Amino acid sequence: MKYYLTFLLVLILHNTAYLQDIKKENPQDKKAKNIILLIGDGMGVSQIFAGMTANNGHLNLEEFKNIGFSKTQAANDFITDSGAGGTAIATGYKTFGKAIGLDKDTIPRPSILEYAERNGKSTGLVVTSQVTHATPASFVAHQKERYLYEEIAQDFLTLDIDVFIGGGLKYFNDRKDGRDLTTFLAANDYQLVYKLKDLAKIKEGKIAGLLYEDKPPRFSKGRKDMLPIATKKAIEILDRSKEGFFLMIEGSQIDWGGHDNSTKYIVEEMIDFDNTIGQVLEFAKWDGNTLVIVTADHETGGMSIHDGDIAKGKVKAQFTTTDHTGVMVPVFAYGPGSEKFRGIYENTELFNKMMKSFGFEKGE
Ligand code: MG
Ligand code: ZN
Repeated sequence: MKYYLTFLLVLILHNTAYLQDIKKENPQDKKAKNIILLIGDGMGVSQIFAGMTANNGHLNLEEFKNIGFSKTQAANDFITDSGAGGTAIATGYKTFGKAIGLDKDTIPRPSILEYAERNGKSTGLVVTSQVTHATPASFVAHQKERYLYEEIAQDFLTLDIDVFIGGGLKYFNDRKDGRDLTTFLAANDYQLVYKLKDLAKIKEGKIAGLLYEDKPPRFSKGRKDMLPIATKKAIEILDRSKEGFFLMIEGSQIDWGGHDNSTKYIVEEMIDFDNTIGQVLEFAKWDGNTLVIVTADHETGGMSIHDGDIAKGKVKAQFTTTDHTGVMVPVFAYGPGSEKFRGIYENTELFNKMMKSFGFEKGE
């Protein structure tokens, strides 16, 4: 009897330990040291497949194995804009159209970038729009209206983002209030960079890369490889942080091609964005502690592909609107904890999943 009880006890202890091991090894709970979030503005499945077809049937996106869908509706609108869409992803709150970093009751909510900063991580933004544009602004600013670019530029000064690169210089140095915010940035140890080629010279420290007066041009009209080059530099700088980093990268102009109902514009921006994804994946594979997420804030154009030729890289599309649509957008995840991005969920869940991946607690 005594032996039997001892045996039973050993069995119970063994099983408990075994169950704890399983719990410990649940891949969904794996923490990430770094998160790189890539947002293709206006990037639905058709935009991706247009780029894939034009690129003879392949994109770096095919490397992702954990895939889900995000529902993009705004708090008060079936069709979102990039303000409400960006805010939902950045803060975990659905809000009204054109809002930046506020919930539907206009209460400012901290973004994942702000939580990363509070928790000692380095932070960065690289975009092909103005840095004050709706998507990057949602991670930085708290404003009722997305077009308050000068106020949003001011909000950059309240944070300590290590690297931000994009357009929109004039909202910092040619303002109605006459202030020159670049002076403030320089006084706060930012290295100001106005030309893409000058980025190469910088090896460490903070970067304010304001490469264009206002909007950056589209890929084929002078911007060229700005996005992958700036992304590579941002990762090089941010990876010096022992605590890890959060980096948001936006392929901003996939959306602008959608508003123009231009398949060619969408395709060139999609391939540029995918080249950037390839660069990020290369780093993440080497690093092993980086969670990479690729998604969109909404689809733009109601794009439908009605003809194409993969061998010739030809794609023909039609559009149902020059505005955004309400369809779900894909989510692709790679790296530690990427399993939890499977399934269908609201866009606000992207914030919750990123917080969980970093092991952060919510608090105001
Ligand atoms: Mg955008
Ligand atoms: Zn748009």
